[in-house]
Amino acid sequence: MTHRSPTAEVERIKVLASYKILDTLPEEEYDAITQLAAQICQTPISAISLVDNNRQWFKSAHGLTVRQTPREYSLCAYAIQTPDETMEVHDTRTDERFTGNPLVNGDLRVIFYAGTPLVDDNGYALGALCVIDHKPRQLTTEQKHTLKALGRQVVNQIQLHRSQALLQGANEQLLMLNQELQVRGQAEHRLQHMLAQEKELSEQKMRFVAIVSHEFRTPLTTIQLSVELARLHLNNQTETSREKVLKQLATVEEQVGKFTELMSDVMLLGNIESNKLSFNPLPCDAGEFVRELIDTFSDRQLNGRTIEISSHGPVRQVPLDKKLLNYTLVNLLTNALKYSSQNPELHLHYEPNQIIFSVIDTGIGIPLEDMPHLFTSFFRARNSLTIQGNGLGLFIARQFVELHGGHIEVTSQQDQGSTFRVVLPMPASLAD
Ligand code: ADP
Repeated sequence: MTHRSPTAEVERIKVLASYKILDTLPEEEYDAITQLAAQICQTPISAISLVDNNRQWFKSAHGLTVRQTPREYSLCAYAIQTPDETMEVHDTRTDERFTGNPLVNGDLRVIFYAGTPLVDDNGYALGALCVIDHKPRQLTTEQKHTLKALGRQVVNQIQLHRSQALLQGANEQLLMLNQELQVRGQAEHRLQHMLAQEKELSEQKMRFVAIVSHEFRTPLTTIQLSVELARLHLNNQTETSREKVLKQLATVEEQVGKFTELMSDVMLLGNIESNKLSFNPLPCDAGEFVRELIDTFSDRQLNGRTIEISSHGPVRQVPLDKKLLNYTLVNLLTNALKYSSQNPELHLHYEPNQIIFSVIDTGIGIPLEDMPHLFTSFFRARNSLTIQGNGLGLFIARQFVELHGGHIEVTSQQDQGSTFRVVLPMPASLAD
């Protein structure tokens, strides 16, 4: 029955399927068009027939109860053979193409037929908008014209529907793409974080090796030198050489002290890294604790200076691990003495829910760029390199304070001085 090539027909069926309109539910927009077509052409029946592979399926059928009929009897299948013309059959009974067609002779009694092909923008005839009567008829030019215009409306509607579906599909794809990008972004972020950690770790190890080898070698060289000088002086039995030997022995003692300090810091670092620190807080009087702590400072450490203590707020018992807090405050005070030539201050503030130990100095201060790294192991600020130190104290102190559930705050200005604040929480039971 079709005059078109089989491949063109396969293509047309594919295009029709791509509109995803076949077997969809009735829709008002289409029903309004068939109703209008029937009204204008004054026919009892009007339909939007889509010509599928083996059937014609009605998207809308005014005056019809069937939803589809076999393609072989479809008059619309004839109409789409001439996509540019409205096919009008005044009396099917006199047209030999429809001899024996059950639609003509059966209950439907299709005597008059006029169908305008539904041609999409790419030239594919999807079906036809048709009007049908049970008696012979002829459309006026105006009716024919309107039928064609309504046919255009149907095509517009079908194409609009597909564009919307495509848009929605594209939107969904975009959404999925976006989600995928987010997931990828997170993975990348994690990877970068891991790489940064890895880099930090290897930098830390390099700093460790550099500092430890330097810090170990310096006292060892000094000790070696002192021992040799002492041996030299021992050959002379004079009083002055005795004094010189004693001086060298004092240097040896001092260097051994520094060496031991560094060793114990490195040991502490190892304990922190393997989570082997023990934390034993006991309620104690913080004021008494800091007074005792300052008494342990040697004359050599103070070098003629004093540490001024003050206490503010109602004195209360505080749960402290004395050993850990002792290390922390000794480190802050040693730094305050080391990086300043003035007397440092230690203020104790009892607040409702916390206790604050502030160590204040008016020394060299810390450059702004170095502030974020202060608590990194082995880090030393650029303005402190000529002063003895290993960059471990603050790192260890922070771990100890965090074990108490507290934190350390720093404010500093280069060449003006620094304030380190150890803020410890006060449990509710002890806070009253
Ligand atoms: P260090 O043994 O080097 O003093 P710390 O961990 O105690 O190690 O301190 C790390 C670095 O922070 C120091 O090397 C110094 O650059 C800086 N720093 C710490 N405290 C002070 C301070 N009171 N004034 C100036 N710089 C400080």
